[in-house]
Amino acid sequence: MERTLILIKPNAIQRGLMGDIITRFERKGLRIVGMKMMYFADDILNEHYAHLVERPFFPYLKASMQVAPLVACCLEGAEAVETVRLMVGVTNSRKALPGTIRGDFSMSGEQNVVHASDSVENALVEIKRFFKEEELFDYESAVTKFEYGGEESLKFK
Ligand code: UDP
Ligand code: MG
Repeated sequence: MERTLILIKPNAIQRGLMGDIITRFERKGLRIVGMKMMYFADDILNEHYAHLVERPFFPYLKASMQVAPLVACCLEGAEAVETVRLMVGVTNSRKALPGTIRGDFSMSGEQNVVHASDSVENALVEIKRFFKEEELFDYESAVTKFEYGGEESLKFK
């Protein structure tokens, strides 16, 4: 099964949305295999948003990501990276479709409540950035056979 990283951003923690956001992923059938609350330290933040350091909004983004703790989650499921990006919606929450997390919970392009890895390749790098090996958990679920069809279970092992 594929894994992806999400960050429940400080603005979502402040607004009391943490539970609603986690519930969406749980209800969908994505398995939480890692979860922790942490402050976003300078070194890891600059690395995580390296593609944006030259952008004029970067100082605002950085400040907004360090104003309170965030919650990092590693989610697992078939095609988890693409599925989670679809659930999160586009970057500017005002353009994000209703039914997506950003579309339902935010009015902002910056304070957009959640981060999600944008490719399988980046997910591998981002999961390592936030979690040590021993902070990720492989565990059996009694309901997997009701979540995926037989053919899918073989395909997405
Ligand atoms: N961001 C912003 N203004 C922009 C573009 C991005 O404030 O014009 C912030 C926003 O919080 C976004 C983050 O920078 O989530 C990372 O940007 P990216 O382009 O990677 O978007 P994402 O993958 O989060 O949709
Ligand atoms: Mg991104």
